[in-house]
Amino acid sequence: MKNLIEKESQKANEILQENTIIAEALKNSDIWILVTDENGNILYVNEAVERISGYKKEELIGKNPRIFKSGLNPPEFYKEMWDTILSGRVFNAITPNRKKDGEIFHVDLKIIPVRLTGNVLRFVAVAKDVTEKIRLSERVQRLHNYDALTGLLNMNGFTVNVSQKIKETPGLGLFILIDIYNMSSINKAYGINIGDQLLIKFAERIKKSFENTDSLARISADTFGVYLILESSDEIYKAYSKLYEMKNSVLKIDDKAVSVNINAALSVFPKDGVSFNTLYERTDIALQKAKKAGAGVILFFDSEIEREAEKLWKVFELLKKATEEKLFIFYYQPYFYTESLRFAGAEALVRIIDRNGKLYTPDFFIDQLENSHYLSAFENWAIGEVIEKIKKWRINISINISGNTFSNPIILSLLSAIPSDVRDKLTIEITERTFIKDPYYTMQILREIKSMDSPPKIAIDDFGTGYSSMIYLRDLPVDIIKIDRTFIKDIVKDKKSLAIVQTIIDLTRRLEKKTLAEGVETEEQLEILKSAGCDLVQGFLFSKPVPEDKLLSFIA
Ligand code: C2E
Ligand code: CA
Ligand code: CA
Repeated sequence: MKNLIEKESQKANEILQENTIIAEALKNSDIWILVTDENGNILYVNEAVERISGYKKEELIGKNPRIFKSGLNPPEFYKEMWDTILSGRVFNAITPNRKKDGEIFHVDLKIIPVRLTGNVLRFVAVAKDVTEKIRLSERVQRLHNYDALTGLLNMNGFTVNVSQKIKETPGLGLFILIDIYNMSSINKAYGINIGDQLLIKFAERIKKSFENTDSLARISADTFGVYLILESSDEIYKAYSKLYEMKNSVLKIDDKAVSVNINAALSVFPKDGVSFNTLYERTDIALQKAKKAGAGVILFFDSEIEREAEKLWKVFELLKKATEEKLFIFYYQPYFYTESLRFAGAEALVRIIDRNGKLYTPDFFIDQLENSHYLSAFENWAIGEVIEKIKKWRINISINISGNTFSNPIILSLLSAIPSDVRDKLTIEITERTFIKDPYYTMQILREIKSMDSPPKIAIDDFGTGYSSMIYLRDLPVDIIKIDRTFIKDIVKDKKSLAIVQTIIDLTRRLEKKTLAEGVETEEQLEILKSAGCDLVQGFLFSKPVPEDKLLSFIA
C-alpha cells in the first residue's frame, strides 16, 4: 500500500514536472495546493501547505487530510463534503484547520474532483489562508456584542443571545435586570477607577450566581441583564433567592471593603412577554418602580408571582435557619385500638419552633423541604430522633418518609443500621402518591425492607387520594392502610363515603392487613368506624399532635 502511494506520488510529481512553468508556479504559490487519491491519501502538497500547516512534506504524503482536522466542524460538514465531491461537484467552504503545533488556522477551501484517463480519480484541494481576516471579523464581532470592561455581553449581544434562546427553547424563561443602587455615590466616594473594578467584581459575582447560563450582560453603566432557561417554575424562586443574597453585599477591592446594594426586577417568559423587547420593556418598568421604592427592593413585573416568591423565599430562609440552628422538633399524635381505645402508638409529626417560640406546622414548609437539599439532613435527624425515643419509651412510633427519600436506596442502609429490637417498633409511613409515582420501584424497596430481620411496619398514608389500583394492594408488602381524612370527614352524612371506607376496610382485612382511620373528630364517626371493623383510630377526638411531655402523660 505504502509503496503504491509513493509510486503514485512520484507519478503526480512527474506529471507536474512535465509542465515546468506550471510546476514552478504551483510550488511557489501562496495558494495551498494538495492532491489526494480517491481514498483521500495525500499524493502531493506544495510549499504553501508546509508553510501554513507547519508539517513537512514527508510527514504528509500518504496521510489523510484529516491530520488538519480542528474538531470544530460538526460531522455533517464532512458528510456534505464527501457527498459533493463523490458526485463530481466542487466543494467550497471556509473552515478552521489545525496546524502541527495545535494552533487553529482558517482556510477558504475548494476541493475539485478531477477524473484522469483510465478512470483515475484525484481530489485537488486549493485553499487560501484567511486566518487574519477571520480573526479581524471576530474581533469586530466581539466589540459589537461584548462589554469591554466586564467581558459580559453588551446590550446588542444580549438582544441577539436572548432572542436566540427564546426561539430555540420555547419552554419557560426568566428575564432579570439588576441595577447597582449606589453606583454614583461609589464613584464619587472612591473614584472612577475603583468604580470600574467594582463593576468587574460585580460581574464575576453575577457569573457565579448564575453559572448555568451564558446570557449575562452589562447593558448600561450599572445595569446587568440575565436570562435563564427554566425547567420548572420552582427555579423562579431559586433565582429570586440568589438576588436576595446580592442585597447588601460587601465587595473587596484592593484593600477597601465597598458595600453595594441592588435593585432588581424579573419577568417570566412567555407569560409576561414572548419577545426580547416586551420582556425587556416590562422588566424595566418593574425595575424603575423598584428603584423608586428604595435600596434592596426586588420586584416582579407580575405582582402575583411576586407574593408567591416572597412567601417561598421566607420558607427557604426558615428551612436554612432550622437546619443550621437545629430548630426541628417532633410533636406526637397518638393512635388507638378502635375496640378498646387502648394506646397503640404515636405518629411523629414535624414542627419548627423558632428562637422567639413561634411554631410552624408542616403545611407551611413541608413541600419545599421535601424538594430542597435540606431534606437528607432532616431525615437523618428525624430517623435518629425517633429511634432514640423508641429506645427510651418502648412504644410504637410512626415516621413519615418523603417520596424523594424513599426513591433513594440510602433509605435501606438507614433502616438496616437500626438495632432490630428498635426496628420492629418503628412504622414507616409513605403516601399513596409516592407509591403510584413508581409502583414497581417502590415495591422492590418495600420488599427489601421487609426482608430485614424484625422489619419495621409499613403504612400507606392518605390512602384513597392517589387513585391507585386496588390490585396493587394484593402484592404490596405493607401492614397498615391509613384511610385519608377526607373520607372519614364525610362518613356520617354521606353514604358514598361510608361505602368507600367500608370497602377499603373489608378488602384490607381479607388481605390480612390493618386499617387506621385518620382525622376522627366526633363520637359518631368513631361509632361508625367501630361497626365497620376499622382496626385503629387517630384524630382530634382523642388528641392533637402534642409535644413529647404531653404524650408521656397520655401514655401514663
Ligand atoms: P399526615 O401524615 O397525613 O399527618 C396527619 C395530619 O393531619 C397532621 O397534620 C395532623 O395534625 C392532622 N390531623 C390529625 N388528626 C386530625 C383531625 O382529627 N382533624 C384534622 N383536621 N386534622 C388532623 P400536620 O402535623 O400539620 O402534618 C401535615 C403533613 O405534613 C402530614 O400529613 C405529613 O404528610 C407531613 N409531615 C409531617 N411531619 C412530617 C415529617 O416528619 N416528614 C415528612 N416527610 N412529612 C411530614
Ligand atoms: Ca402520616
Ligand atoms: Ca395522612
